Amino acid sequence: MSAIGIDLGTTNSCVAAVEGGVPDVIVNAEGERTTPSVVAFSKDGERLVGAVAQRQTAMNPERTIASVKRRMGTDWRAKVDGEDFSPQQLSAMILRKLRRDAERHLGEEVQDAVITVPAYFNDMQRNATKDAGTIAGLNVLRIINEPTAAALAYGLDHGDAKRVMVYDLGGGTFDVSVIEIGDGVIEVLATAGDNHLGGDDFDERLAEHLIERFERETGARMSSDPMACERVREAAEQAKRELSSMESTTVNLPYLAQDANGPVHLEQTVTRAEFERLTRDLVESTTEAVNQTLNDAGIAVSELDEVLLVGGSTRIPAVQKHVRALTGKTPSNSINPDECVAKGAAIQAATLMGARSGCTDLMPRGGELLLLDVIPISFAIETVGGVATRVIERNTTLPVHYEQVFTTAAAFQTKVEINVMQGERPMAADNRSIGKFTLKGIKRAPAGTPQINVTFDIDANGILTVAAKDLGTGNEQSITITDSERLSDSEIADAIRDAERYEAEDAAKRASMEERTRAQQLLEQAHEKLRGKELEREEKKRLRASAANVQRLLSKRPEKMTDEDKAKLGSAIEELESLV
Ligand code: AMP
Repeated sequence: MSAIGIDLGTTNSCVAAVEGGVPDVIVNAEGERTTPSVVAFSKDGERLVGAVAQRQTAMNPERTIASVKRRMGTDWRAKVDGEDFSPQQLSAMILRKLRRDAERHLGEEVQDAVITVPAYFNDMQRNATKDAGTIAGLNVLRIINEPTAAALAYGLDHGDAKRVMVYDLGGGTFDVSVIEIGDGVIEVLATAGDNHLGGDDFDERLAEHLIERFERETGARMSSDPMACERVREAAEQAKRELSSMESTTVNLPYLAQDANGPVHLEQTVTRAEFERLTRDLVESTTEAVNQTLNDAGIAVSELDEVLLVGGSTRIPAVQKHVRALTGKTPSNSINPDECVAKGAAIQAATLMGARSGCTDLMPRGGELLLLDVIPISFAIETVGGVATRVIERNTTLPVHYEQVFTTAAAFQTKVEINVMQGERPMAADNRSIGKFTLKGIKRAPAGTPQINVTFDIDANGILTVAAKDLGTGNEQSITITDSERLSDSEIADAIRDAERYEAEDAAKRASMEERTRAQQLLEQAHEKLRGKELEREEKKRLRASAANVQRLLSKRPEKMTDEDKAKLGSAIEELESLV
């Protein structure tokens, strides 16, 4: 069975697999190499994922969900028709589509997958991503960092040791990582970025410019019309893409607005120079993260061996120029920047699955490729006086084991509550609590007497597990971890059932819609023929009767149709098909 690699992106997702020893992107059902990470619920309850969902955004904004990746690991919920959807469930809908597309392409069931996450994702965000995979029916072999996957795609794990900067500018997020590659070991040394900067901001800038010029030149007003604004935004994105390979382009949007004299059209030429002027500060705003990562990694820019470009927005010439200027290196972009993370994930998936995938040549000498990532944010524990006592430092290499003996602060305390946090601030209240565990049954004793050994283990996926032992009694006490963000096993099971239930229902709805569309097309053809002269009177009569029959059956609303009605419609369509 094949294993797949999935880049679950903020704006677009991509799935790849190693076939015949070569990693390649899997084309989706719509014939595209990437799939918009958009989920929508149509007015009649159908769930849409990908380009179909994206296309209907302007008409159905309240029931369309984009950029759910930004919500991962939070308790945000989308409310649709009185039902709540967690970021995990929504991401699972995207993953499920990618999995189906992969299965169609590979011609077999797919279960095993490696999914990538940004290097700065914390424990909860990684867990949420893993849970999304489980809900989608995937066996998540490993969660790996996006820059690590990019390095794998470039085959940088072969040959000499290297230090590599990965500059990733996608649709809605930006991050830079410095990684060190040794003998079969990839280590993320440092990472920084801005998860609210990306191609969408470039689109926004250009759209604002187009609208402002349009309103100024024509006197028409359109900025309060959301549908018209959406059309301009889409056209701006298209123009932006064109300006990556051309010096100028024309944006044409007929009937964009109305004034007293009738419809007003937008037709404007935009040059690359103009686009660069409009977006210069966005490009320059990436400088700080580049410098910070080098600083955190403790290396000089001259010590970098390679710079990789990842994310669709690195196709923008000004971005490439900027990276060249900052690093003094010509960045590698021989692998499609929106595909290389998925390809790297596919390589890792194939490696983990072993020789069955036929890619043993991708395995380093030691067997399984060891990926060393870092913890992006420090872990701390709340201690007396609301202080955050740092237990694991930011940028510590994974996997990590930590152990420390704690004691009680008050006399005769029989339980201790330990508040686990992530963050860099000295006071507990300023950090983010990711879980509380209570150690119970401690023997009554004066303050400072009991010895409680607490261990933290973070595995290669960046997932945290906690254990505690009361050294006084030798008892290993069970720990209660309350992590409201994580789905419980039964919630995951419910979500899987829910997703599966809807999959069948949605497929049936889609088939019925397709049948009705086919019927409409046949009716058109029939009317065309009836208007013509080629048919005999008798034939016309039969065709007219058959068309009328289909028309009559179609007049019943799809949700009201019984199985008998559906069967009748099926045979009526067949009959009409034989006559036109
Ligand atoms: P990603 O999330 O990596 O797929 O990147 C998506 C972003 O890349 C979107 O904002 C796209 O508009 C942008 N993008 C894709 N192709 C190009 C291109 N040729 N020039 C500029 N931006 C592009």
